[in-house]
Amino acid sequence: MSREDLAEFLFPNITKTIEDYEKLYPVRNLDENAKVTRYAPSPTGFMHIGNFLAATIDYVIAKNSGGIFYLRNEDTDTSREVDGAVEYIRHILKHYQMEPDEYEYRDIHETKGAYGPYIQSERKEIYQTFIKHLVREGKAYPCFLTQEEMDVIREGQAKDKRRIGIYGRYAKYRDLPVEEAIERIKKGEAYTIRLKSSGDFNRKFKFNDLAFGEMELPENDLDIPIMKSKDGLPTYHFAHLVDDYLMHTTHVVRGQEWVSSIPIHYELFKTFGFPMPKYIHIPLILKKDGDSVRKISKRLDPEARMSYYEEKGYPAYALIEAIMTIANSNYEAWREGHPTSSFTEFPFSPKKMSASGALFDLDKLDNLSKNYISRLTKEEVYKGALDWSQKYDPEFHEILSKYKEYSMAIYNIEREQKKPRKDYTYYSEIKEKTWYMYDEYFLGSKVDFLEYDLEEVKKILKNYQNIYNENDTQEEWFTKIKEMSEALGYAANVKAYKENPEPYKGSIVDVTNIIRIALTTLTITPDLYSIMKILGKEKVLARLNNQIAK
Ligand code: GLU
Repeated sequence: MSREDLAEFLFPNITKTIEDYEKLYPVRNLDENAKVTRYAPSPTGFMHIGNFLAATIDYVIAKNSGGIFYLRNEDTDTSREVDGAVEYIRHILKHYQMEPDEYEYRDIHETKGAYGPYIQSERKEIYQTFIKHLVREGKAYPCFLTQEEMDVIREGQAKDKRRIGIYGRYAKYRDLPVEEAIERIKKGEAYTIRLKSSGDFNRKFKFNDLAFGEMELPENDLDIPIMKSKDGLPTYHFAHLVDDYLMHTTHVVRGQEWVSSIPIHYELFKTFGFPMPKYIHIPLILKKDGDSVRKISKRLDPEARMSYYEEKGYPAYALIEAIMTIANSNYEAWREGHPTSSFTEFPFSPKKMSASGALFDLDKLDNLSKNYISRLTKEEVYKGALDWSQKYDPEFHEILSKYKEYSMAIYNIEREQKKPRKDYTYYSEIKEKTWYMYDEYFLGSKVDFLEYDLEEVKKILKNYQNIYNENDTQEEWFTKIKEMSEALGYAANVKAYKENPEPYKGSIVDVTNIIRIALTTLTITPDLYSIMKILGKEKVLARLNNQIAK
């Protein structure tokens, strides 16, 4: 019996050849410089900020070169798959406006692109065609090692301080006669298919990573599994080879944790004679922790998860800016020169990525976000708050929907000016900073006049009620406040008061403080005159009355 017989025996239903697939997925018709990138998440239920960094770089590289950015669902590890994971990825890509040019969304029956299926579990036949070819060539073989046997091998290797893995004499089944292999399978023995490696660990090859530069790595000599016994699906390594070859990926952007697998990928591509894509391995994302710097951790750091940014209500723009800043050291300088350009116009350079780790700074994100929100129009802020609250604070959402003009007027306080106020860091902060403007929240709240004498408070509020006229200009209003302060024994001039406080009960600051507290419960708010204008006569008088009556 020959290897041909073994290949037929293992894959009787595989009738296509590699050439058939090459014809089905011809070279893409793109400009010479156009790059093809992919975001290839495993649907394990949440998205790490590091995945987002990879996706953002993928997107920028593709868009900047007039190329293609596609999404590939790497779901071959069915045991780790989580419901809703793909929907979430789709949502994130949409939210950050990085929608792929090609994709397959099974749940909504939507697919686009001529290089699919874009879901690995739907590509079994394709992978098996490539595996069948290897078996026929004697470059892959069925292996009957059980989990227990492999555990024993591993323990022995660890004890003897040898390299871990199935290679050399540990690759017990690599030369098993075809007849015996078929016999075992017929008897129902479980098997995986392994690569029959031709590498030599003592030999080195050169590999050029676009980010990390040239490396010298030992050849792979492991007979790695390429097809799993459980479901006949390929391992990551093999799927990477087949998919990135047939989908004509030009640049693979992936986490640094894959660097150690380069020898395997190098051997796989060489075995088939396929050109390797270019690789950009991206550094780990780091954060400051006290005086030291460490890897961002999904266990310790809520900001490791993408959901964090939406829950807080950071504008998409701010997170992209923060991510681009850590992706390339010259991004900020570029942004200064191109304040209105899309980040996709940035000429990303893998060499300008920090190989030692990308330090992600939440304070920086906060600043970017605050500045960004301060430059929005009131309509845009309103929309941001409305969208955020719809998902995360339905009660506030209802209030916002009810009081659209009113809310926008609040956001417009000291906005349309050269240096706008920077009240809001993210959309979830808007309620924290404006709740008192809405009777729905204000009426149930406690008003505390601090150390002020309550009789005095009452007197000031009563007097204020009398002079208050909703039509006063800011100057008129302020003149009246000054006059009233003096009449009640408070200094109208703060400086004079500080120099000589004796003759006064206090100063105009105390008077406005008391009015501010009565109207908002707070001692610090944006401009009080603007607040009263927005509250309107009815609310102002009602709030004053309420306090006087207490
Ligand atoms: N599915 C792999 C992961 O999520 C993708 C790595 C790659 O981009 O090749 O880590």
